[in-house]
Amino acid sequence: MLTAWNQYHQLITAKGAKAGQPYVCPGCHQPVILKRGQQKLAHFAHQQHQLCGASESESPEHLQGKWFLATDLRTIFPRVTLESYLHAIRQRADIRCDQVVFEYQCSPLSTQRLSERIYGYAQIQLVSFWILGNRYYQQRCTASSVQRFLRFRKTIGYYLVFLLEPQNQYRLRYQIQLHDHHLQFQERSFTSFQAVQHFWSKGHLQTKKPDSLSHVTKTVARRLQHGQAPYLELQLSCYQAGYNLLGCPLIVHWPRFQSPLMKPDWLGWRIRCLLLLQTRREIAVTTLYQRSCNLIRRRATYPCLHDVNNLIFAQFEVFLTALIRQRLVQRTPTGVILIKKIPWFSDTSVKLKEITKQEGK
Ligand SMILES: [Zn+2]
Repeated sequence: MLTAWNQYHQLITAKGAKAGQPYVCPGCHQPVILKRGQQKLAHFAHQQHQLCGASESESPEHLQGKWFLATDLRTIFPRVTLESYLHAIRQRADIRCDQVVFEYQCSPLSTQRLSERIYGYAQIQLVSFWILGNRYYQQRCTASSVQRFLRFRKTIGYYLVFLLEPQNQYRLRYQIQLHDHHLQFQERSFTSFQAVQHFWSKGHLQTKKPDSLSHVTKTVARRLQHGQAPYLELQLSCYQAGYNLLGCPLIVHWPRFQSPLMKPDWLGWRIRCLLLLQTRREIAVTTLYQRSCNLIRRRATYPCLHDVNNLIFAQFEVFLTALIRQRLVQRTPTGVILIKKIPWFSDTSVKLKEITKQEGK
């Protein structure tokens, strides 16, 4: 940790501390040792074997990043506290700026632990903002360890903020979205958090040209051939309704870009939606949503998003609206109903022929 109390209970930074003076941990009130070395920024450490709930051993990256963040955030917030001990919830925030807490996360953290910490802050009306370190930046963006920190803003879509040390550089990965089964994103570098905020205050969503549908059609065929469980299950549902997954209508691939929350069930929810509609019975919108998107809703663990269910529902509505616009489905006083037969292709080759014909137009 970078701060400790001196004998007068004043919070002192390790940089400004005097050697030979007594210092105590503001969290557990046990004596701490001032450390000044080549490897790490000046910091305080607990004596070995001392148990302290408020602090864990910290990497040079974490110490350096916290120091940089606190300095940088002072240009935005009037009051910035480095290592704020919140006794009511027994948590130590890396940096507190009024009602916002900034956490610089460098080490691995389980979804449960992350949720507990976010919930702890929320209990005392603090909003937490998580900035990720190098190890997260180097991991695949699709890794669940990274995805659990996903945030959302209308202007930049789903995003993640990283702080790379020792360069003191922010990296914003934004417009994170699924293109068929692939996760795609844009990336920008910034030297201050203010510049990041300035960027996301304006709209930056780009319209992209999707790949040919033939690629995704072949991918589904390959995954089914390899016997991947989710695809086999989906094929079984299709067979039971008298269809072949390999010949699923082109409409299930629309919209081509969808929310990253729909991963790993990127195709299944739309197929289930269609199969339910194809029973030709009137169905309530909420029932249709629950029965097609329930898997996603149950799996969804994104503690940094306040309204996961609304975000998933919004994606479902985009698909439903497309079906209505194409005059395949109609709204009724109590729900929706299929009004036109949606033809399925008999197999991959027939579907591919149709794709080539349509894309060649
Ligand atoms: Zn302590």
